[in-house]
Amino acid sequence: MCGIVGYIGKREAYPIIIKGLKRLEYRGYDSAGIALLNGDLKIMKKKGKVSDLEASITGESLDSTLGIGHTRWATHGEPNDVNAHPHTSSDGKLAIIHNGIIENYQSLKTELEQKGHKFKSETDSEVIIHLVEEIKKSNNCSLEEAVRLSLQEIVGAYAICILSSDEDKQLIAARKGSPLVIGVGDGEFFIASDATPIIEYTNNVVYLDDYEIAIIKNGKLTLKSIEDVAKTPFVHTLEMELESIEKGGFEHFMLKEIHEQPKSIRDCLRGRLIPKDNHLFLNGMSQYMNKFLNTDRLIFIACGTSWHAALVAEYLFEDIARISVEVEYASEFRYRNPVIRENDVVIPISQSGETADTLAAIELAKSKGATIFGVCNVVGSSIARASHAGAFIHAGPEIGVASTKAFTGQVTVLAMMALILGLKKGTLSESRYRELLFELDTIPDKIQKILENAEPIKRIASTFQSAKNFLYLGRGYNFPVALEGALKLKEISYIHAEGYPAAEMKHGPIALIDEDMPVVFISTKDATYDKIISNIQEVKARKGKVIAIVTEGDKDIQNMSEYTVQIPKTEDCFIPLLSVIPLQLLSYYIAIYRGCNVDQPRNLAKSVTVE
Ligand code: GLU
Repeated sequence: MCGIVGYIGKREAYPIIIKGLKRLEYRGYDSAGIALLNGDLKIMKKKGKVSDLEASITGESLDSTLGIGHTRWATHGEPNDVNAHPHTSSDGKLAIIHNGIIENYQSLKTELEQKGHKFKSETDSEVIIHLVEEIKKSNNCSLEEAVRLSLQEIVGAYAICILSSDEDKQLIAARKGSPLVIGVGDGEFFIASDATPIIEYTNNVVYLDDYEIAIIKNGKLTLKSIEDVAKTPFVHTLEMELESIEKGGFEHFMLKEIHEQPKSIRDCLRGRLIPKDNHLFLNGMSQYMNKFLNTDRLIFIACGTSWHAALVAEYLFEDIARISVEVEYASEFRYRNPVIRENDVVIPISQSGETADTLAAIELAKSKGATIFGVCNVVGSSIARASHAGAFIHAGPEIGVASTKAFTGQVTVLAMMALILGLKKGTLSESRYRELLFELDTIPDKIQKILENAEPIKRIASTFQSAKNFLYLGRGYNFPVALEGALKLKEISYIHAEGYPAAEMKHGPIALIDEDMPVVFISTKDATYDKIISNIQEVKARKGKVIAIVTEGDKDIQNMSEYTVQIPKTEDCFIPLLSVIPLQLLSYYIAIYRGCNVDQPRNLAKSVTVE
């Protein structure tokens, strides 16, 4: 999940690369490194954050218009200076940065060692550059040819950039399975794992496809496949704004993104929902409506927070469109020999659109003839491109490692889809449909109201900042929200937390409850309200500390709970969009009180582009 950056052109490469690495740091921050080429190769690398690398570089000449940089999320070899990228060949003339995993690295390494190659690091990545060196030497060929032939021998996932001091006006990049974007400027090129390091220089980008190599020299970009077939670069125009990837006055990206949710949901609904005209339209869905109408089940595949959004979808589609739904962890699905039929509609959900397990599950489903309808945030991402059709959530770049606005964006799109399908199938009456359209339109304002009333949440966070465990309980639409609340807390505050269906508590977790156990009940006024009151009583009887998320004006639960947070009333099917907000804030403030780095939680990275 590393971030990679490259620059070739007329400007100084170093500042562009450092700035780009900072933008990509959400992808990993175990170590950082840079290679600059100016006649000779100059390699600088350091364990820790990009700022640690920057601080370690003093008094050196950084004069170069060609360079590459890497911020690492370690898969092979512990995070230290030696394992940091870039890695070099035995003769020191070639340098590589790599995002991905080389699955056959051990056998390649053994062969190369037998041929005299000495390895410095424990990484899989270093093998690539030694292989390129070996093939270049034994075939007496150009670097471009050596890279092409090497990639034919490599099994696994990669996005790479390679420099050579022998061909010092050239940068070579390639990808398979890991993302890579090339920004096309005026006689200059920017390479990066996503567009965020590029957009302040150019809006014109080329997305590299799997098994493609980009050779950039003399102000020109040439594309070819690893089978040596020439390709024509297709230049897309990006519509991202610079402010959207900066903190805009907030202390952390996570807090900024929590507060952006009224806007990000409005952006998601824009042009798609116009209640007064009875209008709700998703272009991708209308094109594939026959597939949705002719299938008897939907299969959702996702990981992490997106998997929780998929669980909300299970309630939405079964409730509103009366269609059976399966929700799968992408990583389990593909290794289980799942039954996939030709008329199945498979719906992958991923913020980045690069989640490796989800991508692999898509390929499997596609090979069985299923229709793939992707729900992603990042336009141009691999999942978006691998899908037959789909709907973007339009949440804008999400940089905070703990996902917030992507979750509500996903649920918004999934709710729209369920409403459209429900109306088409006749499981939802026209009058009910209309009511729900009007209600969906009010959600951004209701979220705003919750955000403006964060004080009670801060007080609860302060009270429970030292808790060792947390339990999150919800029923119906709030069950996935309980899972999401627990995940948010684990991710950024490192407190152990479990989410459970509230009624399941008595089948086990109730044994955990004592006077030290905070229990968060997501107990809004909905179809399960009376039942959850009994569950609250069960916790109170065992002296657990009850923190209840309740519907405005609900005195009953307020009277029986020590701590409550009120949220506006809405229809049951939209409750997750509101009830998750206080849980995001609770985890944020607890992490802040504990002194945790919320934007860069330990061991995590934003988009999981390794399997
Ligand atoms: N496998 C490489 C390493 O451990 C790259 C990791 C990644 O892209 O996540 O250094």
